[in-house]
Amino acid sequence: MNFHVLTLFPEMILQGMNTSITGRAIARGLLSIEAVNIRDYAFNKHQKVDDYPYGGGAGMLMQAEPVYLAYESIAQRIGKKPRVVFLTPQGKVFNQSMAREMAQEEDLVFLCGHYEGIDERVLEEIVTDYVSIGDYVLTGGELPAMVMMDSISRMVPGVLNNQESGETESFAGNLLEYPQYSRPEEWHGKKVPDVLLSGHHANIEKWRREQSILRTARWRPDLLKNADLTNKEWNEVRQWKKQWKSEADRKDSES
Ligand code: SAM
Repeated sequence: MNFHVLTLFPEMILQGMNTSITGRAIARGLLSIEAVNIRDYAFNKHQKVDDYPYGGGAGMLMQAEPVYLAYESIAQRIGKKPRVVFLTPQGKVFNQSMAREMAQEEDLVFLCGHYEGIDERVLEEIVTDYVSIGDYVLTGGELPAMVMMDSISRMVPGVLNNQESGETESFAGNLLEYPQYSRPEEWHGKKVPDVLLSGHHANIEKWRREQSILRTARWRPDLLKNADLTNKEWNEVRQWKKQWKSEADRKDSES
């Protein structure tokens, strides 16, 4: 997987990505990362990349030409028109299935906006995907690009030491991951659930599945409707919901 980032702050991208698991994957040649400084493609006296928006309004806008030339330098070098993700709060909200799908690409370009954004005309010419990392506004696209690259990297074979952990963790099958415990067996008076100490693998799997469903039903019921549950599991979910509702009603009547 080759990541190419169009940015005004290449050092931010390189420092962030060359750390920890992604840094190790880069060193092992499983990922490559380049950060292309858009300012290097601003061929004016002060390498200016922004200007006032036509029609007035707050802030400055990144101009089309430097962004386009920076993009062209990548497209020419890799010999194809790559997929270009523009990070924008107006885009489709990023999720795990998008990460999985994008991990199939050989090359991905991330275009990071700054100031008030980028001249629409260059977006129309080069962008293939408009992606947001959530309903809030950040100062630039660099953190969103790193968020995306981090989660896409985890789907690239060999990046995680134990590939299985990418398959069983939260969002796999639209369920959140079950709670986990490590040593000691008792901490602050709280004991590790007996089943996890039993060594009985089938029971452990059963408990984990139940906990995943329970946690998803409680914290992310929106995910649950796309999860593949058996009829017995749906019945259990209905029972839990009834129980939670009566607990909430009781609390309301007590207060
Ligand atoms: N004026 C723009 C708007 O209202 O849509 C917001 C511009 S924002 C201050 C500057 C840049 O940060 C954007 O061009 C985008 O690249 C990035 N950005 C901000 N919030 C983001 C989010 N939630 N997801 C992805 N990118 C974001």
